Amino acid sequence: MKKYSAEIIQLYHAIQSADYILIGAGAGLSAAAGLSYADEELFRSRYPYWAARGRYSEYHMFSFREWTDTQQWAYMADHVHRVMDETPPLPLYQKLKHLLQDKNYYILTSNVDRQFLRNQFPKERLFEYQGSYDLLCCSQACSCNAWSFAPERNRMLQHIQTADASIPPDDLPLCPYCGAPARLAFRDYPQYAEEKARYDAWLKESENGMLCIIEIGVGFNSPGVIRVPFERITGERNLVRFFRITADYSDSDIEIAYPEIPKPIAAKSCSINLDAALVLEQLETLASRK
Ligand SMILES: [Zn+2]
Repeated sequence: MKKYSAEIIQLYHAIQSADYILIGAGAGLSAAAGLSYADEELFRSRYPYWAARGRYSEYHMFSFREWTDTQQWAYMADHVHRVMDETPPLPLYQKLKHLLQDKNYYILTSNVDRQFLRNQFPKERLFEYQGSYDLLCCSQACSCNAWSFAPERNRMLQHIQTADASIPPDDLPLCPYCGAPARLAFRDYPQYAEEKARYDAWLKESENGMLCIIEIGVGFNSPGVIRVPFERITGERNLVRFFRITADYSDSDIEIAYPEIPKPIAAKSCSINLDAALVLEQLETLASRK
């Protein structure tokens, strides 16, 4: 007989009885699904040039600035290639999708790995707050169009120089409309306003019933995207339950999960300090026993 923690049973019932379900998904969900940015062994073997200069993980590279444009694009081409091309649609996302079927749900994610769309979640229920790794746009915002990064990163990947981990300057991506430097279409991308308006409308509608908020794998890398707004929504509403599912990466020593719940919302909240894969697996088993 399988044992379930009281928190997981509480979450299961909250999902069943909610009128609206708001999911906030951070890097911890993809990490639990098998795509981790904290794998230090992978980093050392894949990026020896940067490992020799004191960097220890892809997560650690998010805050790195001391590189040339040609080094930055070489790194991003390979990192995005790993995330978008080498990593398949991850099955853990299917478990979440199954759990949400027939529910009125919306997903807010800080992830740029496209795993929700690649697992056929409907686009109209998804707000990719930080955009996506698979698109480029103009650094001068000359047009509203973003375009696929794939052809350019494939060219870059063939030209990465091991001596200084850079690409030749001729491979730097340019805007096809005005010739200005291109940039990855994340953390500020052309369709942001449209996606945000759709999400805001759903959030407004959810004031009409019981809202179950489930935050999965969200740390403090970009707390303004999910963590802080979700705590605020929980504080402002009466018909709400808030669940925080988070655990530290198993392949890293750094502590980034922070499972704590602020005191003012504690009575409406529940922290589940477990790996998201374990939680989703147990929820699935509970659902199948019905
Ligand atoms: Zn342009």
